[in-house]
Amino acid sequence: MSIRLHHIQKHFGRSQALSPIDLDVASGELIGLLGPSGSGKTTLLRIIAGLETPDDNPATRLLFGERDVTRVHVRDRRIGFVFQHYALFRHMSVFDNVAFGLTVLPRRERPSSGDIRTRVLRLLEMVQLSHLAQRFPAQLSGGQQQRVSLARALALRPEVLLLDEPFGALDAKVRQELRRWLRHLHDELGFTSVFVTHDQEEALELSDRVVVMSNGRIEQIDTPEALYRAPANRFVFEFLGDVNHLEGQVHNGILTCGDARLRVSLPDGRHELLLRPHEATLADTPDERANLPAVVTAVVPVGAEVRVELSADWMSEPWLVAVRHQDAERLNLARGARVYARPLTWHHYPETAGQARRSERRAQTAST
Ligand code: ADP
Ligand code: MG
Repeated sequence: MSIRLHHIQKHFGRSQALSPIDLDVASGELIGLLGPSGSGKTTLLRIIAGLETPDDNPATRLLFGERDVTRVHVRDRRIGFVFQHYALFRHMSVFDNVAFGLTVLPRRERPSSGDIRTRVLRLLEMVQLSHLAQRFPAQLSGGQQQRVSLARALALRPEVLLLDEPFGALDAKVRQELRRWLRHLHDELGFTSVFVTHDQEEALELSDRVVVMSNGRIEQIDTPEALYRAPANRFVFEFLGDVNHLEGQVHNGILTCGDARLRVSLPDGRHELLLRPHEATLADTPDERANLPAVVTAVVPVGAEVRVELSADWMSEPWLVAVRHQDAERLNLARGARVYARPLTWHHYPETAGQARRSERRAQTAST
């Protein structure tokens, strides 16, 4: 079922948690809401759920398919929820937890006890917990408990599943596994999902499309590939991964910052360049294009690459450069080695870091 949000705005007292938001989620889509803490993700999800009401405005509309649910109560929206701390009923077995929503349905909607049993067993099979049906929540690991939560949320066959940082409290390996679970169940059962996370990797790995939020606004909506390849603005670029900065004065096509020099095609004036760790390489000499001297402060092999941390007077923060193992060996990279960074490409957003920090402060002041 599709979800359409039109002009959804929310104030808490005088502070604005959401600027007017428009968002269309296609039927069967898995959408990730990604943003730093306080950016309004939970508020938006709770409004979709009906647990929170948007500001009263004639333009505000929330549609599930063709149905206008703007004023429909949470219990009539037929939504499944999974929250980070949505505790299971501790005094009930796994089986009873999953069956609960079905057993409390009004008599005329309630399946027979045989049908409930069949449905619960099928759900437990799907989350591979059949063998633990008689256990109690306290006897399960965190990952198993979240799988029970997922099965419980799906028992009523919701067409919309909402998840708020569902794997946030679990360790990295379990999270990875549960992400695959969720993706698999989503595709198999064909519901529409909106899930909240502050974890870039999780959002990029799991979502059909990612909605990047900051300060109650949507910064960009795109597929993970498009988002990573073409960030709409500086905030999105910085939020999606590690970034190295080079800020300096450009004169006649040369950017200068302390003893660092880089040839650029930019007009004279102050500019800041941003580049990802894999968008630079290292050499033992400068070349005619780049002279960016640095000292290696750490060398960390991570999978197929080596992450090299650099420090230099011209950097506002240490750089991180990802190189191939063979290059690390050839250059004899070790702590204390002197190297030259060579940007392969770079990104440029008109606003400088100082301006960005100032506008962020303004936005924060406005929202408190
Ligand atoms: P996120 O989930 O992205 O961390 P939230 O939606 O929880 O962000 O919060 C967005 C903003 O709204 C924050 O500034 C938060 O402090 C504020 N906020 C959220 N819920 C309430 C509430 N019930 N009362 C007052 N302010 C709230
Ligand atoms: Mg939240």
